[in-house]
Amino acid sequence: MFEAFSCTVGKPEAPSAAKSPEAPGVPARLGSKPLRLIIVGANPSEHAWLSGHYYSNPGNWMWRILKDTGIAPSNIRGSQDDGKMQEEAGVGFIDVGVGHPCTQLCSISTDTFQSWIDTFYGHLTEHVQQACKSIGCACGKCGCPAVVAFSGKRQFMELMNFGRPRRDRLKKLDTGLQAAGPIGWPLPATTELWVMTSTSGASPMTNEERYATWKDLATLLAKLDHPREISCPIVSAEPQEACDRLQ
Ligand SMILES: [Zn+2]
Repeated sequence: MFEAFSCTVGKPEAPSAAKSPEAPGVPARLGSKPLRLIIVGANPSEHAWLSGHYYSNPGNWMWRILKDTGIAPSNIRGSQDDGKMQEEAGVGFIDVGVGHPCTQLCSISTDTFQSWIDTFYGHLTEHVQQACKSIGCACGKCGCPAVVAFSGKRQFMELMNFGRPRRDRLKKLDTGLQAAGPIGWPLPATTELWVMTSTSGASPMTNEERYATWKDLATLLAKLDHPREISCPIVSAEPQEACDRLQ
C-alpha cells in the first residue's frame, strides 16, 4: 500500500491518494470547543495520510516533543491519539494543505501552496464559530485559540508572502512568537502566532535546538486553563455596557 502512493501535488490529473478508498487521510482535528493551541503543519506526509494520524511517521519528532514538554498529557500515547488531544489537552491539528498529501515539501510550489490558503482559513473560521457557539459567546472572539503554532517556517512564510508585492516578501524569519500575522489572517490579534522549529527527522540539528521553541511554548501553555475559563464580555455585561462595547 505504501509503495502504491504517489505524490500528486502539481499533478492534478494524476490518480490521487486522496481518492484511494484505503487511505483514511488526515482531516482537520480541531474539535468544537475553544482550544489552547492549534498546531499547523504544511501538508500531510504520505505516512500520515495512510495512517490517518498527524505526524505519524516514526522519524518525526512531534509526538516525542509534545510528550516530553508536557504539551501532551501522559495518557496520550502518540499520533494514534491525535483525535483525543482536543478534549484532553485543548490542542488541535490542521495543515495549510489539509487534504493534499505529499511528503516532499520542497517540491510544492508557492502557487500550489497559496492555492490552499482560502480553504485553510475557512477551516479556522468554522472552528472558531463552533467554539464560540459551544460557550455561548456573542462577540465571536472568545472561541479563538490562545496560540496558533506553525510546525515549520515554510508554511508561515507562504502565508506571510501571499498578496504582498515581490519587493516586500519575507526571505527569512525567526522561530518563536511572531510580531505580525499574514494579510487576511482570520483570527484576532489576541491569538498569538508562533513559528516552531521543524519536527521533521530530516532536519539536521541538536536535540537542544529541536526542543527550544517547543519548551518555550509549553511554558506558556502551562499557564492557560484547560478547559479554558472564558466568559464572553458581551454575554456577561449589562445590556447598556454590552452596547457600549459593540460601538
Ligand atoms: Zn465572546
